[in-house]
Order: sequence, then structure tokens, then C-alpha cells
Amino acid sequence: MPMKTIKLTRWDLEPWRARYMERVRVGGPDACWPWTAGKRLSRYKYGSFHLTLAGERRDVTVLAHRLALYYFGGRIVDVDEDVTHLCANPSCQNPAHLVIVKEKQLCKSSSGATTS
Ligand SMILES: [Zn+2]
Repeated sequence: MPMKTIKLTRWDLEPWRARYMERVRVGGPDACWPWTAGKRLSRYKYGSFHLTLAGERRDVTVLAHRLALYYFGGRIVDVDEDVTHLCANPSCQNPAHLVIVKEKQLCKSSSGATTS
């Protein structure tokens, strides 16, 4: 199942906050905060996190750094958004090192603005 198609809500995520937090080695504001647990989705050495969806009792595995923006910043990453590491460290969970990229922006172009 492609994990990016899972629409997560805070009801899905909040029960797992403590479990997520104990897997992150939080450091200084500028340091990388490495994921210390599984990297099963590990083609790119990203951390992976297992949780059960609140409504569906379905187990899913998601990329841990997508959750960092929620657990540290309250921002749920949407299904059409990608999260990129500014620090090029795939296991890093420091929200200051993560940036959201809207996939759809890449496709959008200014059309219909032709002249003569
Ligand atoms: Zn980092």
C-alpha cells in the first residue's frame, strides 16, 4: 500500500505520540535529530513508524519524518505533500530541517496569459 495515500488525522496520530517521541534522539535546535528505531521503508534510510488508524483498526507504516512535523509542530502533512530534508539526512526528525513540498505546485503553470 502506498503510504502517501493514507490520510492521517490527529485522532490517528495523537495516541502514538509517546511511542514516536521515544524513538527520536532530540538534540539542539540546529542539530539533526536521528530516528533510533526501525527503518523498514529503508530504501533511502528513512525512519519508519507503525501505527493503527483510529477509525479503521488498520495497521499502517508511515515515514517517520512526515510525522515529525505533526508531533513537533502540530502540522499534519497532507497526502499530496512531500517532505524534503534540508539537511540531506534521511533519518533526521528535526522539524527545522524539514520542508513541505506541494506536489501539485510542480504541475501547475500559469496558463491562459498569452498575449496577441
Ligand atoms: Zn537534520
